[in-house]
Amino acid sequence: KSGFVAIVGRPNVGKSTLMNQVIGQKIAIMSDKPQTTRNKIHGVYTTEDKQIVFLDTPGIHKSNSKLGDFMVKSALGALEEVEAILFLADVSEELGGGDRFIIEQLKKVNTPVFLVLNKIDKVQPEALLPIIDKYSKLHTFTEVVPVSARDGNNVTTLLEQIGRYL
Ligand code: GDP
Ligand code: MG
Repeated sequence: KSGFVAIVGRPNVGKSTLMNQVIGQKIAIMSDKPQTTRNKIHGVYTTEDKQIVFLDTPGIHKSNSKLGDFMVKSALGALEEVEAILFLADVSEELGGGDRFIIEQLKKVNTPVFLVLNKIDKVQPEALLPIIDKYSKLHTFTEVVPVSARDGNNVTTLLEQIGRYL
């Protein structure tokens, strides 16, 4: 099984940290080049039975320029071509305008969207359900996976869930 997965989310939710946690020692491709294409390959996760190519998808943020609008459209086009989208959110911060904007954009895309709730190490376990509720009111997510990208908590589960969509 193999396929492409896009990671989206506002700055500082932990996209890079999650990538580092997933790829670990298994880095096949890691590019620090400026984004010259609409999707930068961030890393390839390979095991005996699956290969997941993770794409960093920049450009999904509010804009008030023609160029900005174009970048959002371009990013959305890229999101149509992947097997799954990981929408990362930070459970230690309020659901904000940046999150809402991305969620609104994701509604236009016909790709399964995972709600990946990151930084669970920073909140009490009982705080999680109300947070899931809040996000789920905004969109019907295909899967909901709470993780700690930093500690690696539940990341294996995330990879297994992704495997079902490859
Ligand atoms: P990005 O902008 O989405 O790529 O976010 P980064 O991966 O750069 O992470 C932003 C900050 O959040 C960094 O200081 C990370 O160490 C921190 N961070 C990321 N994941 C976690 C997590 O699961 N738990 C905690 N406590 N901090 C995290
Ligand atoms: Mg980053």
